[in-house]
Amino acid sequence: MNVRDFSSADERRKAVEKELSVELTHIGSYSLDAGVAGTRNCENMIGAAQIPMGVAGPLTLTTVNGKSNTYYLPLATTEGALVASVNRGCKAITVSGGATVDSHRVGATRGPVFKVANLSENRRLHEYLEGHFSELKEITEKTSRHLTLKKITSRGVGLYRFVRFVYDTQDAMGLNMVTIATDAACRYIEEQTGNTCVALSGNFCVDKKASWQNFVSGRGTKVWAEVVLPAEVLRGVLKTDAHKAYGTWLAKCMLGSAVSGSIGFNGQFANVVAALFIATGQDPAHVVEGSLGVTTAEVVNGSDLYVSVYLPDLMVGTVGGGTTLATQHEALSMLGVAGASPEGKHGKNAQTLAEIVGGAALAGEISLLSSLEQGTLAQAHNKLGRGK
Ligand code: NAP
Repeated sequence: MNVRDFSSADERRKAVEKELSVELTHIGSYSLDAGVAGTRNCENMIGAAQIPMGVAGPLTLTTVNGKSNTYYLPLATTEGALVASVNRGCKAITVSGGATVDSHRVGATRGPVFKVANLSENRRLHEYLEGHFSELKEITEKTSRHLTLKKITSRGVGLYRFVRFVYDTQDAMGLNMVTIATDAACRYIEEQTGNTCVALSGNFCVDKKASWQNFVSGRGTKVWAEVVLPAEVLRGVLKTDAHKAYGTWLAKCMLGSAVSGSIGFNGQFANVVAALFIATGQDPAHVVEGSLGVTTAEVVNGSDLYVSVYLPDLMVGTVGGGTTLATQHEALSMLGVAGASPEGKHGKNAQTLAEIVGGAALAGEISLLSSLEQGTLAQAHNKLGRGK
């Protein structure tokens, strides 16, 4: 059987069932539009993988400009205890008056690599890129109505020059857009300089890999979130106190991350980022970058706890990719950020989504640190994850 020889998901699935003598009833039960999903999102489609979706909240977030909103988070996961954990963190944040969030749109990046003849050519290419930004801006921006070239940086090593193109892609996560734009730029650079582009992505983007480059420079949107948890909330909601929770944070997020050589100093960003990404149609492979970051904790006012998170690399969008699928679009609607931002507010929906991910990550950190301090992590997973 050649899996490409079928014109519909149903026909292909039936052929697979026959060939493998298996029943794929659940894979074949879905409500999404196979005509659209099978052409734009997934080749050789046979059905859909259903993942349970829970809700956590309310979560109150206030931007540094003073705009408050309360959210109910759609979380798609198969890890029992995760939604309950985030829900508890949301409660602690919200009864404490909400978390403050801030963000900075770094932009989507593509990082091609060029081969040069020698070090002199390497320097010449660097100088060419420095001197021709406006031409390259014009060429890349012709490929989309929603893309702006913000910056080009480059680094040379031996016979190679790695170039990092940074773009604003408004409400789209933008990886298709920046790939198309950078391809146009690379062809032009090849023509003008005689150097060959070895790979349109030379791992200098850095796409879907954990890297210090993205940690330091940021990618997509950088997000910060913070909250002060009063002693009574620590006691009543989280069953802990500031000094104990601080001690757990220091041992785990700082020292444990240092001795294990982790890229990132946090408790469970990946859990929350993955569940929100899957629910809202983000590319799940970007969890590897989205889970980079730092959690900080400090005892303040004698017995309150300040907790903050910093996520430097959130690649999220509210248009394009998986966000257009019906389920994911509904999940984005729960957060009030489905589709393109209103006229004149370019990229606002995507930026708000990134801030919500940051607030949700903060909720996850607060709950996990409390649970570890009380020694209830194993019991919670046994009860909620195994149903015992
Ligand atoms: P996309 O769906 O390929 O492109 C976004 C589209 O939305 C563009 O056509 C853009 O218009 C349009 N658009 C309409 N309103 C917009 C607005 N307000 N803001 C921004 N764009 C708007 O999505 P993408 O975000 O570029 O790429 C996401 C996909 O890339 C995901 O499926 C992901 O899995 C995949 N991906 C690709 C690569 C790769 O190497 N190509 C790597 C990783 C992931 P214009 O016509 O004006 O551009």
